[in-house]
Amino acid sequence: MYDAIIIGAGPGGYSCAIEIAVLGGRAAVIEKDKVGGTCANYGCIPTKSLINSVSLIEELKQASRKGIEATFTLDFGKIMKKPYCRYDRAGME
Ligand SMILES: Cc1cc2nc3c(=O)[nH]c(=O)nc-3n(C[C@H](O)[C@H](O)[C@H](O)COP(=O)(O)OP(=O)(O)OC[C@H]3O[C@@H](n4cnc5c(N)ncnc54)[C@H](O)[C@@H]3O)c2cc1C
Repeated sequence: MYDAIIIGAGPGGYSCAIEIAVLGGRAAVIEKDKVGGTCANYGCIPTKSLINSVSLIEELKQASRKGIEATFTLDFGKIMKKPYCRYDRAGME
């Protein structure tokens, strides 16, 4: 028996479920895609990770100005692999 059924496991949905659990209730979360929603899987976190990678590339490109000769290769597949954010189902039922 659940006190609430929440549709969507994005920041709105999972925060709501956590709050209900903190208050001693039981919440069921229904998600049609990925836990974490837009923010964790497509929006905030992936875009910030890409910005971080691009900043690092820019820094390496400018390194010779500071007397550092750097060579690098890009593995775009690895960059896009999202090692920065792994939601698993631990603690969920
Ligand atoms: C490119 C990009 C960058 C962003 N960067 C930032 C940032 O830097 N900082 C920031 O604060 N915000 C950022 N945002 C906004 C942020 O992602 C949203 O504000 C946040 O994800 C909204 O959370 P939410 O739970 O309301 O919706 P969502 O995260 O969209 O979650 C809704 C969930 O509901 C699921 N769902 C929908 N319909 C159903 C259904 N019928 N049945 C089951 N599941 C369903 C979806 O699959 C999804 O997982 C960014 C957004 C984008 C697109």
